Amino acid sequence: MRLFLQVVPVSEAVRVVRSIAPPVPKESVPLEDALHRILAADVRADVDIPGFDRSTVDGYAVAAADTVGAGEAIPAMLHYRGRVAMGGRDPGSVAPGSCMYVPTGGVLPKGADAVAMIEYCEQLGDDVLVHRPVAPGENVVFADEDFAAGEVVLESGRALSPRDIGVAAAAGAGEVSVMRIPRVGIISTGNELVPIVAAPRPGEVRDVNSYLCGTYLMERGCHPVYYGIVRDDRENLAATLSAALDQCDLVLISGGSSKDERDNTAAVITSLGEVLVHGVAIAPGKPTILGQAAGKPVIGLPGHPASTYVVLVAIVDHLLAAMMQTEVSRRTVSAVLAENVPSAKGREDYVRVMVKEGRATPVFGKSGLLNTLTRSTGLVRVPAGSEGLEVGEAVEVIVW
Ligand code: AMP
Ligand code: MG
Repeated sequence: MRLFLQVVPVSEAVRVVRSIAPPVPKESVPLEDALHRILAADVRADVDIPGFDRSTVDGYAVAAADTVGAGEAIPAMLHYRGRVAMGGRDPGSVAPGSCMYVPTGGVLPKGADAVAMIEYCEQLGDDVLVHRPVAPGENVVFADEDFAAGEVVLESGRALSPRDIGVAAAAGAGEVSVMRIPRVGIISTGNELVPIVAAPRPGEVRDVNSYLCGTYLMERGCHPVYYGIVRDDRENLAATLSAALDQCDLVLISGGSSKDERDNTAAVITSLGEVLVHGVAIAPGKPTILGQAAGKPVIGLPGHPASTYVVLVAIVDHLLAAMMQTEVSRRTVSAVLAENVPSAKGREDYVRVMVKEGRATPVFGKSGLLNTLTRSTGLVRVPAGSEGLEVGEAVEVIVW
């Protein structure tokens, strides 16, 4: 065994996790349960939407040609033929020189090709005076103008928003095909770890990572399965990892991912499968393991919670996206650096920053501090080829 980590660039780590990502199967769910799920098949309109020529205003349905030259002084005078009923199948028709009242959303009667807004019309008994000309199509949405029958309204791979769900409803999709929610096993390892309800004695550390990773996974649309704390002991870790591999699509093990004599994660993954990468040129997060066993990815995360979280964002995000056949979605804000950020060339640095009024101030702290997680807005990536970023530079901050 080598004594030191053989690091690979972040881009290579991302390529590896994508290459071992088993796509989760598809399932069908009722539309109302599909919020934030990843669409697994295109949704198409089953009919034209809106399906009929529809007025967008309250007014009078007219043949636009009848209103040419209409004005305040000399209005067009049209014969009133009655009202269009909302939801009625037969709206009636207007012959040249006549009009019908149509409410917003009502069907345009046959013979009409525009609607004159009620504000510019005046009804006098059986006649309607139109004080402004309307152009053909004015104040009308045509039958297939929103979506035509057969048209894709939502593309596969999309994370469904409430807006998407509304559009799918209009397309008649009572059920939608989505990617099954990945089950992700979470194992924390370390002799020093204690449950969070314990009062830690000196040397003991509360198990932060189960909670950090579990809720991160929920935010990414996955289902966390908790396997608790495992001591630095190969047999126990192997048994827990095997159980997790039976029940989950992916397993995350935090702690023990480096090369100390107590670090068992790599050896245990090797005993059940293979380690593909041990060490990534990322800071924080260098002791990261990418492996697989039983045809499923197994990721060894560094124990420090802030490092763990950076690796989740920079690498595991890509794995989850590939498993769910979607894109990594990132919320970013633009800011200007308030201080210089030095960086070692050849290493991709993820610098925590606090953004205030468009200025990104680096939150430097000693390795392993938790406070940087809550006292920062997100991360600025310093590419591997760069020796740092300078004060005043424009940066994109990946918001936590
Ligand atoms: P390791 O990666 O096992 O070398 O651990 C690095 C540091 O992270 C040590 O200070 C550990 O105590 C800490 N650590 C490891 N696992 C966790 C965890 N689940 N929650 C909080 N801190 C942890
Ligand atoms: Mg440890």
